[in-house]
Amino acid sequence: MLRPLRRIIEEMESAESLAEALDILVQRTRQALETQSCSVFAVDIINHDYVLMATDGMHDKSLAGLRFKPHQGLIAIIGDQEKPLNLEDAPSHASYFRLPGKAEREFHAFLGVPIIYNRRLLGVLTVESKETRRFEEDEEAYLVTLGTQIAPFMARAETHEIISQQTAAEAHDDTVLLGIPSGKGVGIGQAVAIYPPADLDAVPDKTIEDIPAEIEILKIGVQRTRDIIADLGSRIASSLPEAEQNLFNAYLGLLDGDSIEKDIIEEIERGQWAQGALKIAIKRRVRQFQEMDDPYLRERASDIRDLGQRILARLQALDVQDIDYPERTILIGDELSATDLARVPPAKLAGIAMAKGSANSHVAILARALGVAAATGVANLPYGKLADTELIIDGYYGHVYIAPTPALRQEFLLLAEEEKELDASLNELRDLPAETPDGHRVSLFVNIGLDADASAALAVGSEGVGLFRSEVPFMTRDQFPSEEEQRVIYRQILTTFAPRPAIMRTLDVGGDKALPYFPIEEDNSFLGWRGIRISLDQPDLFLAQVRAMLRANRGLDNLKIMLPMISNVHEFDEAKALILEAHREVNTEEFTPLPDIGTMIEVPSAVYLSRTLARKADFLSIGSNDLTQYILAVDRNNPRVSGIYDSLHPAVLHALHQVVRAARLEGTPVGICGEMAGDPIVTAILVAMGFDSLSSSPANFARVKWVIRRFAYHQMRNILKEVMKFEDPADIRSYLEETLEYAGLGGLIRAGR
Ligand code: PEP
Ligand code: MG
Repeated sequence: MLRPLRRIIEEMESAESLAEALDILVQRTRQALETQSCSVFAVDIINHDYVLMATDGMHDKSLAGLRFKPHQGLIAIIGDQEKPLNLEDAPSHASYFRLPGKAEREFHAFLGVPIIYNRRLLGVLTVESKETRRFEEDEEAYLVTLGTQIAPFMARAETHEIISQQTAAEAHDDTVLLGIPSGKGVGIGQAVAIYPPADLDAVPDKTIEDIPAEIEILKIGVQRTRDIIADLGSRIASSLPEAEQNLFNAYLGLLDGDSIEKDIIEEIERGQWAQGALKIAIKRRVRQFQEMDDPYLRERASDIRDLGQRILARLQALDVQDIDYPERTILIGDELSATDLARVPPAKLAGIAMAKGSANSHVAILARALGVAAATGVANLPYGKLADTELIIDGYYGHVYIAPTPALRQEFLLLAEEEKELDASLNELRDLPAETPDGHRVSLFVNIGLDADASAALAVGSEGVGLFRSEVPFMTRDQFPSEEEQRVIYRQILTTFAPRPAIMRTLDVGGDKALPYFPIEEDNSFLGWRGIRISLDQPDLFLAQVRAMLRANRGLDNLKIMLPMISNVHEFDEAKALILEAHREVNTEEFTPLPDIGTMIEVPSAVYLSRTLARKADFLSIGSNDLTQYILAVDRNNPRVSGIYDSLHPAVLHALHQVVRAARLEGTPVGICGEMAGDPIVTAILVAMGFDSLSSSPANFARVKWVIRRFAYHQMRNILKEVMKFEDPADIRSYLEETLEYAGLGGLIRAGR
């Protein structure tokens, strides 16, 4: 009886605007529940009114934009209580709000559900009926489910719509989007949007002047698509079942029938660029097919969409051009990659913001390594509409300000200026040792990965490299670098830092670190084929990498090799055996010193095995980013659960302490190279636990040193003792923040001094 929910969502997604999508929602829902009316209200993020966004059946169109005050009517009750309201006779409810002049069209039965996304109320969805009756349980369940399904859609669309109505010129109120703090600092600059390839939904609207030129581009794109499909079809036709062969023919038929192309051209003639016109025309077609009753024809909607993506890929290939990065670039997108960051000249990158990811996603770590302000998990970031707009990223809070008012810009400029002053004054610590006032010494190393890091790392006065993420050069290429190419990269790093030690971690791909040319499709990638597991399964790759490292180390002898994702002792033994094999091989060519071999502790099992691993390895280094995710069972990359990813969780702190004690008992050096090591809030307790070394991105280096030089070791021990009494990570954080503020180091935890 009920129209499948999925179909309503699919239809909404193919709409061209939020208004159209919401119209589809209310019409289809009203039909599905066989009621006389359905309406959707959105919460206005500025004044918290409920605004009627779309309605079918009840109100006439003149009521569009109707507002209820935050405490007015039944809508407000649903919003306040954040639960469904199912009434047999709504007008007899004390809070019923009678619309002027509408008495004759009164309804009785009323059902409303809240629309909530990430704990935030976005709106209310209601249905009403002329009868006096209670809506059935399954009808209520249907509406509740629909409410949860449209929530992410509304969250995304909400901001798109706000932004499209608010141009920079008319911005009167500062629009701020909330994300996850992922790279401290303040970044002010001009947005450059990075679009995911071949994604019709991500294509921005753009107006053009030269219509004939745009039509020409489209024609080339369509012709290339046609050629590719025909070619594919003829090459593999014989090995395909008939149904798939028909698909190729159907695609060609759609293209040759010329009508899709004609539709797209019409949109170009209205001033859209080819990609935007394609999006509009394809979405319209998709919708027409989705509305058909014949299930076979309805299924064709996905073919049209697929065809649209294929044409888009061709158009995008024609459109590859060097981006002209503004002097202060804020890179924005759905999900940015290491490559996207690496393409921006470092001096021009002022900040990043992305819709996906979280503070411990690798791209956020890279942003921190470059010292830029970053906000991730900005779920409703309308990046497609923000290109060229001025943005402010407040990396301390994860806030993104859009087209800021002059007053707000001024405020942030001042904060940025103060940050610069703070950095300049911290620079004075460069040549001083990382030593507490009572003489406890810690080694401070840097984490490096992006090519640009090495010079920054030396400039901050590091004592060596605590973690070289060797996968980064692999990620920024389009095939595995050859052994010789790798040797050159490693040699450069070892030479730059010699005689200081450089810990090179062997390839750690998988999880959220994908190589475009080595796809790994897994449901649970963080629990899957990652790090050392890949290296042991592909010894050819591992041996080549180790040989390249060993050869690069000749005559310098400052290399140390570190193994990622070790979860049992056997993996360590096997990897060590392979390293010895590679060493024997290169040593026969020319004398090559055997480096120290260490292991990362980043999986809970390795914590329990830390005593044995400490006996076998030459050093241990805790990867607290992964260790936190695995101990707390929280995906480090998922913005939905980022609120519970916290390295200050007592369980994580106990694990760190246990590893340090195990290493001490075996006399094995122990360091930490996860992001915690660069967070000045945590420095005192890490030192107090007994870590020999902390390794952080160069950008945090001086701040960490400042803390070390500010607190005596016995004070740090006391702080640790207090911290270990707390049960809640939030209490630990507040306590540590207060401690820093009280010691005059407040500039480390917020913008400004
Ligand atoms: C870690 O997990 O803490 C770590 C340093 O490794 P990565 O962040 O590269 O996974
Ligand atoms: Mg890790």
